[in-house]
Amino acid sequence: MTKKNHTLSTETKMAQALRYLDKETGAIVPPIQSTATYARDSNYEIKKPYWYRRDGNETTSHAEKMVAELEDATETLLFASGMSAATSVIDSLNPNAHVVIPKAMYHGVLNQFQTYETKKRLKISYYTAGNLEELSNAMQNNTSLVWVETPNNPDWAVTDISKAADIAHSKGAKLLTDCTATPPCATKALNFGADISMHSATKYLNGHSDITSGSLSIKSSDAFWEEIALNRKLQGSVLQSFDAFLLIRGMRTLFLRFEKATENAIRIAHHFEHHKLIEKVLYPGLASHPGHAIQAAQTSRLFGGMMSLITKGNKQTAIDVARYCNVFYPATSLGGVESLIEHRATVSGDDFPVHPNLLRLSIGIEDVNDLIDDLEQALERANT
Ligand SMILES: *Cc1c(COP(=O)(O)O)cnc(C)c1O
Repeated sequence: MTKKNHTLSTETKMAQALRYLDKETGAIVPPIQSTATYARDSNYEIKKPYWYRRDGNETTSHAEKMVAELEDATETLLFASGMSAATSVIDSLNPNAHVVIPKAMYHGVLNQFQTYETKKRLKISYYTAGNLEELSNAMQNNTSLVWVETPNNPDWAVTDISKAADIAHSKGAKLLTDCTATPPCATKALNFGADISMHSATKYLNGHSDITSGSLSIKSSDAFWEEIALNRKLQGSVLQSFDAFLLIRGMRTLFLRFEKATENAIRIAHHFEHHKLIEKVLYPGLASHPGHAIQAAQTSRLFGGMMSLITKGNKQTAIDVARYCNVFYPATSLGGVESLIEHRATVSGDDFPVHPNLLRLSIGIEDVNDLIDDLEQALERANT
């Protein structure tokens, strides 16, 4: 029986790019708006809402509406990269603001915070990702921002978002979550109490490794959000319309891609969990992972395709596994349809706290048997 006046599900809306339909032509795909400037009307008034490309355009706005639909947000801003989204937030903090961030996290964001601290623009206290007691102890009465990456690079520690929100809010601080590894088809961070939900849309949201983009979403606007929006406009870090077009196209298949990546990842995690050449599999989808129960609730059991393998042997064994793969690409990044493998310590540098034998895997949507066979032959070769 068809229900009357039922609202369409987010899955339907994503597949249809929010039911886009050009009334004049019947076109069902949103066009790329390429103009850099917009003419005034006959009264010499600006035709709202657009006036100049640096402040946004129709294509980018359409992509923003799709992300907002996924996030259950009232507003989303898209940036030219995840890093420019993160930097806009950091830039918008008051001078000398106190922030609480994880000791290990996505290395670009960590470096950015530390650079600002070196320039005496803010003060940092650290906690171990996933450890709410340490997070609580790191809070001060004047803390302005708590940064949570969950699941957290590169060991996929899980942080309980609603508990982190309570801790942040008890001191009047904002909670920002970076749930790039579980996009909002799985984790709607704002619904768990995050004030700002950030994503590198370069990753799962776009899913085809052919743009960089970042998103920030909120439920209620305030002076801080307006500062971030102004920062984007003045820095010119808005997502450009060609890239927004690709992002729209990518998001149409987000649900399918993410479900398949999860299915593949679960198979791979189970296959290697008790493998003779593997020390440990770090994947929140495994019952043995300390964050499993929280993550099951925070993702509706869509654990995603990100995991790390700690190989037996030494650092060189791990590097050899990565370079002997023929199906996995030995490349950085994550969340694309193609699987990637990366020796993390090579990328993050010697100062970063990461196990020397850790390989980060981004599981794509290929035939899972090809992926398992590839890892098997690479492990075999690296150990002979
Ligand atoms: C990739 C990534 C970023 C940075 O995003 P870019 O689009 O590469 O600038 C931030 N956080 C996490 C968790 C990421 O994986």
